[in-house]
Amino acid sequence: MKTAVQTKGYAAPSVNAPLVPFAFERRELRPHDVGIEIKFCGICHSDIHQARDEWGGSIFPMVPGHEIAGIVSDVGSQVTKYKVGDRVGVGCMVDSDRTCDACRRGLEQYCSGGNVVTYNGLDKDGAPTYGGYSDRIVVDENFVLRIPDSLPLDAAAPLLCAGITTYSPLRHWNAGPGKKVAIVGMGGLGHVGVKLAHALGAEVTVLSQTLSKQADGKRFGADHYYATSDPQTFAKLAGTFDLIVNTVSAELDWNAYLALLKLDGALVVVGAPSNPIPVAAFSLIAGRKTLAGSGIGGIKETQEMLDFCAEHGIVCDIETIPIQQVNEAYDRVLASDVRYRFVIDMESLSAPA
Ligand SMILES: [Zn+2]
Ligand SMILES: [Zn+2]
Repeated sequence: MKTAVQTKGYAAPSVNAPLVPFAFERRELRPHDVGIEIKFCGICHSDIHQARDEWGGSIFPMVPGHEIAGIVSDVGSQVTKYKVGDRVGVGCMVDSDRTCDACRRGLEQYCSGGNVVTYNGLDKDGAPTYGGYSDRIVVDENFVLRIPDSLPLDAAAPLLCAGITTYSPLRHWNAGPGKKVAIVGMGGLGHVGVKLAHALGAEVTVLSQTLSKQADGKRFGADHYYATSDPQTFAKLAGTFDLIVNTVSAELDWNAYLALLKLDGALVVVGAPSNPIPVAAFSLIAGRKTLAGSGIGGIKETQEMLDFCAEHGIVCDIETIPIQQVNEAYDRVLASDVRYRFVIDMESLSAPA
C-alpha cells in the first residue's frame, strides 16, 4: 500500500517567529501527480510578507517557497508529461478550478474559482499547502514546468516567480523593438525584468532610487539608468515611455511616474505597496494613459518564459545559501542587501544540525 511520504523542511511556526526545522508529510501520488525532489528554492519577498502575516489570513505552521526547481523522483500511474529524472519547476500555483473562463484561456493565475497557491493556501481536499523550503513536493503534472537543460537549476529557480511576474506584463503590453520600457526598481524582480525586456528587443531604462547598481543594470541590458532621487530625472524623462513596470512595493509619487508615459502609455504595477494608490484623474486623462496591474502568469506562459530564457541565456543573479541561514537572509532581503535573489540549496537540509 502506498503511504504519504515524510518530508523535511523549514517552517514559520507562528506569525513573526523565526523559521525552524519542520517535519511533515506529502500526500501519496494520485494518478496525475508528479513527485519532485527539490534541489533549490528562491526566497521571494512575498515569502516574508506571508510569514509575517502582513497580508492577513496566514496559515501556520507555514513552509514558504514558490520558486522551486528540482528533479522528478516518481510519477503517478497516468502521468504523461514527465518522467523520472526530468528537470522541473513549480511556481506560485499548484492547482485551479480548471473550468472557468480564465483557466480555459490559460490564465490560471486569475482563476475565478480561486487557484490553489503553492503554500499558505488550502488544497482542494482542504489540506494546507506547503511550499518549497523542503526536500520534496507533490504536484499535479498540469502545474509542473519543464526547466530547459541549458538553464542551471539554482539560477533558474527564481524565474518561476520573479521571471514570470515581469515577463507577463512585458508580453501583454508588447515590449519589443521600437518600444521604450522603464523598469522601476532593480531588486529580485527588476533585475530579471531588465534582462527580459532587453531580450525582447525594447529600449530599456532602469529607474532606481540611486545609481548604486548602475553598472549591473547596464550589464543586464539596460540602455539607460536614472536615479529617481534626482528630481531632474522626472523633468528630463517626461513623456518618454510606452510602458513602465513598477516592481517596488514602496510608496511612490504615482502622478510623477504617470507623467513619464507617452500618449497611450501604461504604468503596470507588479509590486504591491500596502497603502491605496493616490492618482489624480488628469494624470490619466491627459495622454489617455493606463494604470494597470499584473499578477505572475499562467502555466502556458510560464513555460514560454522558461523556453525564452533558455533561448536567450537568461537566468537570475543569485546568492546561494544553506537553509540554516534563511532567517538572516530574510533580514537582508528587507535591507535590500542581496544581488539579486537568495536561493536555498536544499542539500543543506540533510546537513547535521
Ligand atoms: Zn514570489
Ligand atoms: Zn479557473
